Amino acid sequence: MKKIKMKRRVTRRAIGKLVIFGVGLIGGSFALALKREHAVERVVGVGRSRSNLLAARRLGVIDEIETDPAAAVNDADLVLIAVPLGQTAAVLAQIAPHLNAQTIVTDAGSTKRDVISHARRYLGDAFARFVPAHPIAGTEKSGARAAFAGLFGGHRLIVTPEPETDLGAVRRVTAAWKCAGMRVTTMRAADHDRIYALVSHLPHVLSFALVEQIAGYADADKLFGHTGSGFRDSTRIAGSSPEMWRDVCLANRDALLCALDDHLSELEQLRGMIEASDGQGLEAHFATARAARAKWLLKKA
Ligand code: NAD
Repeated sequence: MKKIKMKRRVTRRAIGKLVIFGVGLIGGSFALALKREHAVERVVGVGRSRSNLLAARRLGVIDEIETDPAAAVNDADLVLIAVPLGQTAAVLAQIAPHLNAQTIVTDAGSTKRDVISHARRYLGDAFARFVPAHPIAGTEKSGARAAFAGLFGGHRLIVTPEPETDLGAVRRVTAAWKCAGMRVTTMRAADHDRIYALVSHLPHVLSFALVEQIAGYADADKLFGHTGSGFRDSTRIAGSSPEMWRDVCLANRDALLCALDDHLSELEQLRGMIEASDGQGLEAHFATARAARAKWLLKKA
């Protein structure tokens, strides 16, 4: 007898109406992933850029464009906020008075404490049905044209529920992201913000800083002409959206400042060794870093 395969599609058409604020890389990819799994009936997109929304509809990322946030969230099952962090409060304020009692709201923001404080402030009773989340997947590209259904497959979703957060809402949101191929981890928002300040926000700042430094020399063209794969690898993420990263830095200011201070100490230490021609110290430092990287990659594999 043929075996019947139990697939992720158990959540088939679990969502009737999905509304996405910010149909960019993340919001668009979420819609495409759910469509691929036949887990959503109708996707409505709300955005700032008409041409991006038109492209999203043409590419089948969304089914409808809605310009009025109140009309968009009417009868919605799930609302995903995937806008740059600086826009989150405004979106929450726009939708709060119009949410139905069954509508669940979630977000994809790269920081969590500030998003939670905005949601607590604007959503009132609906705050219990707000599920703060951060998909740990992305590229340096932006907009609906960059979206693809496979973006989240095999990656981790961090969920940071608050004591008031309704468990049923968490289950529905995590089921949707699992459908998109994600593994779910739950943690406190403060832990999330410290961890991602160190492993994501700091590297982005450093990558932008490195390119900015080279671009600032009078002979920048000549310098860029001599770059190789090392420079390219370590600066790929400087191709990311300046607006998004401005907002991440401001939203996670305290944790990022701590990460930057620690990094400056690290650089000071290396600078001291170079100044003192301390070859032994430098080699030991680099060997420790190389071993830590190898261990991390082995564990990841
Ligand atoms: P993106 O630039 O590709 O998409 C954002 C979209 O939001 C754009 O289409 C923009 O027009 C729209 N927008 C801006 N203001 C709006 C508003 N007020 N109302 C409605 N739409 C608005 O960005 P993205 O990479 O998809 O990032 C979206 C969110 O996801 C951000 O909060 C970011 O922190 C988070 N995130 C990004 C990544 C990544 O690697 N790019 C990964 C995880 C989480």
